[in-house]
Amino acid sequence: MDISIVIPLYCEEESLPELSAWIVKVMNENNFTYEVIFVDDGSTDGSWKIIEELSSENPNIKGIRFRRNYGKSAALNCGFAEVQGDVVITMDADLQDSPDEIPELFKMIKEDDYHLVSGWKKKRYDPITKTIPTKLFNWATRKTTNIKLHDFNCGLKAYKKDVVKCIEVYGEMHRYIPVIAKWAGFTRIGEKVVQHRERKFGVTKFGMERFVNGFLDLISISFVSRFGKKPMHFFGLWGTLLFISGAVIAGYLAYAKIFFDSYKMTERPLFFLGLLCMVIGSQMFLTGFIAEMLSRNSPDRNSYHIEGKIGL
Ligand code: UDP
Ligand code: MG
Repeated sequence: MDISIVIPLYCEEESLPELSAWIVKVMNENNFTYEVIFVDDGSTDGSWKIIEELSSENPNIKGIRFRRNYGKSAALNCGFAEVQGDVVITMDADLQDSPDEIPELFKMIKEDDYHLVSGWKKKRYDPITKTIPTKLFNWATRKTTNIKLHDFNCGLKAYKKDVVKCIEVYGEMHRYIPVIAKWAGFTRIGEKVVQHRERKFGVTKFGMERFVNGFLDLISISFVSRFGKKPMHFFGLWGTLLFISGAVIAGYLAYAKIFFDSYKMTERPLFFLGLLCMVIGSQMFLTGFIAEMLSRNSPDRNSYHIEGKIGL
């Protein structure tokens, strides 16, 4: 099979018939063998009914239905577990992404040998309250992760099958799939300018809290990618530095007390600074030990992605 298209959706009943007809048209025109996997993320409207109908008319159209709303990352993750095609395309269900981009994305994965190609909505049709924070978000992500993409969170992306079978998308981490992929060793990451359209039906399913959560996730993911398997290297370093600074301050105060009899040393701001440094420093050290114990006991402490073997 050439292509698997994974479409996470939450209450998008109006868009589905048009989207599916458009995808099927593009697939037939290009003679692709394909499957479309709609992942219904606990919709409360008639989305699932429509998916059932579409599937009964065309066996290439498949569906997964969640019992409740778990979020876009969960939907993508379950879709990825089922895909069979050599190239996996993800797209949003709201008709903001155009299926006409699929043949070119397919070519970039198949012929140009990219692991992952991310869409770039260079000209966006979204309200300004979304486009400006998005620019900031993308800038911060580029700086933190060193991946040169303009539009990390574009719903339209293409992957080599290996990529989606290796990575795990959880929480709200769908915004950082290129980061997770790079971290798993898939470094050939490309970008393609894609058409973007205004939302035709319904409303966006993410509120303004997306930006707060997005930045918190960025901090977590860059921390976990650097220190996830060796937390003590972070906590130990900063704990030690803080503790030593505190000890130096305490030493100096003790020296001043003994030799110059400056008896009011507890009134000096420096005294409290020294105390604080020692307390926080030792707490960081303890946090490091606990984190180390957790990571040692985690079930995937020894899970590595093996790309190939010889003679075994
Ligand atoms: N979506 C989902 N689960 C959710 C929220 C959104 O599957 O909990 C789907 C949604 O139906 C759409 C895609 O994720 O297909 C992108 O969502 P949306 O268009 O609301 O986001 P925006 O375009 O505003 O970033
Ligand atoms: Mg949208």
